[in-house]
Amino acid sequence: MTKRLEGKTALVTGASRGIGAAVAMRLAAEGAAVAVNYSGSKSAADAVVAAIVALGGSAVALQADVSDPAACTALVESTIAKLGGLDIVVNNAGIARDGLVVRMSDDDWSAVIDTNLSGVFSIVRAAARPLMKQRSGSIINITSVVGLVGNAGQANYAAAKAGVIGLTKSLARELAPRNVRVNAIAPGFIGTDMTADLSDAIKEAAKSQIAMREFGEPDDVAAAVAFFASDDARYVTGQTLAVDGGMTFV
Ligand code: NAP
Repeated sequence: MTKRLEGKTALVTGASRGIGAAVAMRLAAEGAAVAVNYSGSKSAADAVVAAIVALGGSAVALQADVSDPAACTALVESTIAKLGGLDIVVNNAGIARDGLVVRMSDDDWSAVIDTNLSGVFSIVRAAARPLMKQRSGSIINITSVVGLVGNAGQANYAAAKAGVIGLTKSLARELAPRNVRVNAIAPGFIGTDMTADLSDAIKEAAKSQIAMREFGEPDDVAAAVAFFASDDARYVTGQTLAVDGGMTFV
């Protein structure tokens, strides 16, 4: 694999499972030292670190709940302390608490906004200063096609993910003069724990909406993250790339 990220350091939130784990593996395979953040899945995060080290890479597992602003500041600080710097930030940690608006509890609304939107804000607020100071860096926020087109039963998730797109564009404008790029990726249906519990009927209905007629893999998202992280995307900022097999066309 081309090592586009040799000498770089990366923080990936929610990297113990699913898309985040694939992103951590891909960035490491391209040469980056990676902080593998997790919330509760310590053994899974340790396994991702072990897999990276077994392939000759460098990684460390760091626990932090991204819905806690102080924990986000500490996570950025400990990434820099443990890895010796910070060049790439991937805001991937996310949850879903689905339900129709008329039945949605305050807790389900707040949990998703706090993790999926405020968590991104807290991480980028802490990371922006060191990245601006060194006048280089790439921030990649994982949003969702649901943030682009909405979804019945996911108003909390859609609001958070649409918010991430607005945050991405605003931050891209703020940081561009300091040579820090900020982009977003909007996955469609990707095979992870988050989509594993969907019924076969929902999965088939979803596939009929996808031009390529299949779900994506975490590695499909990881490849797009690696592009945005690398100098191949040197002149790209403020963008949202759908990785959805042809689902949204927006
Ligand atoms: P997943 O398999 O459920 O994994 C979620 C990851 O986020 C886990 O590593 C989890 O850590 C971590 N996490 C959850 N809450 C956290 C918190 N408060 N603080 C820190 N880490 C936390 O999810 P996924 O499918 O890979 O999704 C990853 C991202 O892609 C999410 O932002 C999701 O919204 C987005 N996305 C997914 C799809 C899809 O089809 N799968 C589509 C569009 C967008 P623990 O293991 O420690 O709990």
